[in-house]
Amino acid sequence: MTSDKSKIQRLQDARLKRAKALADIDTRDPNVDPPPGAVIADQLELAHNNTYGRLPRFYVDKVVVCRQCGKEEVWPAERQKWWYEVTKGNINTGAVLCRTCRDKEKARKDEARRLHLQGLEKKHGNET
Ligand SMILES: [Zn+2]
Repeated sequence: MTSDKSKIQRLQDARLKRAKALADIDTRDPNVDPPPGAVIADQLELAHNNTYGRLPRFYVDKVVVCRQCGKEEVWPAERQKWWYEVTKGNINTGAVLCRTCRDKEKARKDEARRLHLQGLEKKHGNET
């Protein structure tokens, strides 16, 4: 491992530690001030959530335990904002896989689609 990599690893560890410290913060509580590093939520962009419950006022780094491999990883505040406000993810959903497993899952799906398309092409080829 190069020194560059271990530096990244150290930064990731520090971020994970910070995220754990923030785990108890209630991002929906109007009396809670956003901590340093928090990303402010845009309520208008969250309006697609058909909920009577309170929506988050800000996002903080969140610890995700991967459903597949059990690895702990930070789900960065800015990625959460993107997920909920840009891709309009439901507020009750969130990241469940670590980046490695997500990439693997994506590769698996891409491969399945490729094989499927290949199969369709073959079928088509036989018909003509
Ligand atoms: Zn994983």
